[in-house]
Amino acid sequence: MKHRILWAAAAAVLGAGVIAAPFSLSAAEAPAPFQKSPPGEYAALREQLAARFGGRTPKEWGETVTGVKTRLAGGGMAIALTFDACGSPRGKGFDATLIGFLERERIPATLFVSGLWIEANPELFRRLASNPLFEIANHGHRHRPASVSGQKAYGIQGTRDVGEVVDEIELNARRIEEVTGRRPAFYRSGTAHYDEVAVEIAAALGQRVAGYSLLGDAGATFSAQQVRDALLKARPGDIALLHMNHPESGTAAGVMAAIPELRRRGFRFVPLSDVAVE
Ligand SMILES: [Zn+2]
Repeated sequence: MKHRILWAAAAAVLGAGVIAAPFSLSAAEAPAPFQKSPPGEYAALREQLAARFGGRTPKEWGETVTGVKTRLAGGGMAIALTFDACGSPRGKGFDATLIGFLERERIPATLFVSGLWIEANPELFRRLASNPLFEIANHGHRHRPASVSGQKAYGIQGTRDVGEVVDEIELNARRIEEVTGRRPAFYRSGTAHYDEVAVEIAAALGQRVAGYSLLGDAGATFSAQQVRDALLKARPGDIALLHMNHPESGTAAGVMAAIPELRRRGFRFVPLSDVAVE
């Protein structure tokens, strides 16, 4: 049953003509997504999106291209804290102090997790995914900048074509769903760089692209004081970008210093899916 719903959702997301017809498998036959999806299904999806987007030449490149959501919509004193887990060679760590603080203080957050980080920390990932305080979001299969033409960001090679963008987004979305039972709603590429075609591909895969409006730790390079000062500049509706994979950084101490003051000012913390984004 779960599978029929997934297929219906995928068909709705992808639009008419992309998936011809849902496969009709009984519940007993229905395999889990990712590893055991119907033969050829993934390749067909990849080809269909390559045909749909392959002729496009992107005009934009950066963190705030057309379609990237950078703020929460609506009024109120909500802020979304988002923490990336990148999984790059020096980014496979886990900030237990930070996550422990969020858990103790009951502070909801959205965790953008890459496939590389999940592979390095499978048990931790399961534990985080089982905590309803945290929304699990998609930080890409291989943590690559999302480009249809091989653009780089910070020296990191981006995806080279539509098919690689699909791999980057969809393989990690399926992996996350396999563990959590829920398909992530938000995607942020490795380095948070995109062209606008890649953002449209994400939308075709049912992933909203989450940028940010508040740079919380500058790639986990800020001192605790800098993290605190950055967070205390928060305005209602901000999406703050920080990291949960650098325990040696100032991020945890800065967050722990800022949160009580933000609460005093009347802010509340929400996962991205609890609010609309714009
Ligand atoms: Zn990252």
